Amino acid sequence: MSRAEIVVDLAAIRGNAHRLREHAGTPLMAVVKADGYGHGLVESARAAREGGAAWLGVATIDEALALRAAGDEGRVLCWLTVPADDLAPVVAAGIDVSAYTLAELDQVADAVLRAGRPARLQIKVDTGLSRGGATPDTWAAVMRAARQGETEGRWRVTGVWSHLSSSDEVDDPANDEQEKVFRDALAVADRAGLRPDVRHLANSAAAIHRPSSRFDLVRCGISLYGVDPAPGVRADVWDGLGLTAAMTVRADLALVKQVEAGAAVSYGRRWTAPAPTVLGLVPIGYADGLSRVASNRAEVWVAGERRPVRGTICMDQVVVDLGAPGVGTKPEAGADVLVFGPGTRGEPTAQDWAEAGDTIAYEVVTRVGGRMVRRHVDSERDPATTPEPSDDPIADPIVDQGRGR
Ligand SMILES: *Cc1c(COP(=O)(O)O)cnc(C)c1O
Repeated sequence: MSRAEIVVDLAAIRGNAHRLREHAGTPLMAVVKADGYGHGLVESARAAREGGAAWLGVATIDEALALRAAGDEGRVLCWLTVPADDLAPVVAAGIDVSAYTLAELDQVADAVLRAGRPARLQIKVDTGLSRGGATPDTWAAVMRAARQGETEGRWRVTGVWSHLSSSDEVDDPANDEQEKVFRDALAVADRAGLRPDVRHLANSAAAIHRPSSRFDLVRCGISLYGVDPAPGVRADVWDGLGLTAAMTVRADLALVKQVEAGAAVSYGRRWTAPAPTVLGLVPIGYADGLSRVASNRAEVWVAGERRPVRGTICMDQVVVDLGAPGVGTKPEAGADVLVFGPGTRGEPTAQDWAEAGDTIAYEVVTRVGGRMVRRHVDSERDPATTPEPSDDPIADPIVDQGRGR
């Protein structure tokens, strides 16, 4: 076990994939971009496949090719290319590529010539996010060209898809509008003669809360990792899903010491002890992905209690308040600190850190890293490797089985 580490429970990802698929009632695309939202690209993908994910979704071609290099042979979609990308290896690897424009269709056609096999192509339409995707005035031309390339054997159009702007605001009429515009795009595709296997629109929040958005496939990222995409919205539905957060960030407490009333803590003296108190030093900081905005606001879990962060979060370290001397349980240096985790023991969650850092839990889990080691465990298949912080302030119950890093 390392001084500071990201522990990822693959059983949680596997189980979450299974439950999301059952809940949505459609095939599942497990979105594993950005290193599996910080959980590990290949490991997360494998766990999601075991949980029944028929598709994997990534942003870049490097991510897609890394999945193939790791032995994944299933359906993979990547959706964010640039003109300089060489798509030939992606086409050769049987990865579905997305195109939004006629120029991108040309780029795919060129890759097909060099790859020596037809591409699997998905057309992305802009239904109101104004990010990637073909704008409505170009749909007819893009769909016609896509169909033309299909009849010439350059590719098969396997999908038509789009992305929502406000799925976490479940009742926002923008969702209804985007669904309607998506149906219009599907009609244009149909008139052009395209018969895609999968029409898809929903990310996690839509997959969970909007049955009308599910079409043939749902693309779930954050929920796969057990993090609520729409915190506070229809909590009964989220709770009923029974998903588990896969990521725990933990560290060894570096130091415990008492300071007197009036002691100023950390850079800028942004917190002063009103009375004698015991401070603990946690050996990770913003270089490891904690947000400095959470200074004086976040909490960590040590020796059976939540302990407030005091003062400024530094590059390498954070000071936490262990309370008045002689009151309550006091940990010793070396004790286990849970920075965040699933919350089952009472520890803070990624959502708690998001609120303390004025951001969303997506950013919390994808940003942690830095010098921390990431270790994959499996609470189902190998329970002994999973962090189970005891309330004993000194004991260190995690047994390192030497699996993974
Ligand atoms: C990241 C992403 C997703 C996954 O979104 P979540 O809210 O994490 O489920 C789905 N589709 C696209 C296009 C994405 O970029």
